[in-house]
Amino acid sequence: MSVPQEDCLFCRIVAGEVPADVVHRSERSLAFRDIDPKAPTHVLVVPLVHHCNAADLADNDPATLADMFVVADIVADQEQIIGYRTVFNTGAEAGQTVFHAHLHLLGGRSLTWPPG
Ligand code: 5GP
Ligand code: ZN
Repeated sequence: MSVPQEDCLFCRIVAGEVPADVVHRSERSLAFRDIDPKAPTHVLVVPLVHHCNAADLADNDPATLADMFVVADIVADQEQIIGYRTVFNTGAEAGQTVFHAHLHLLGGRSLTWPPG
């Protein structure tokens, strides 16, 4: 689904209707700080166009999925973090709460593996 969703929080952030602490924008993606950070750096990178999850985005617009990883790396540089983790949650069972594809960029502290 790539039509803007009126009831979608991240579509509203992309449209500027809901404020966000934006740290970077590209032609395809927007990066802003997570409101409830799980690490010193916790940034969400979202496609400007609505797709419900990473697989939907990969199917329909793989160039934007690639751009999101480039943006994550740019933000990590800006934040001066050495190593970082990128996460996509897919489905409520995996903890997805916003059904607009988004990459979590986490860093700035030692990250254990596997995650708890
Ligand atoms: P999910 O759980 O879907 O993988 O990730 C959604 C993320 O969005 C969560 O980490 C949550 O803290 C974040 N979030 C929820 N509401 C807002 C908001 O209004 N603004 C920002 N910046 N982040 C939000
Ligand atoms: Zn959306």
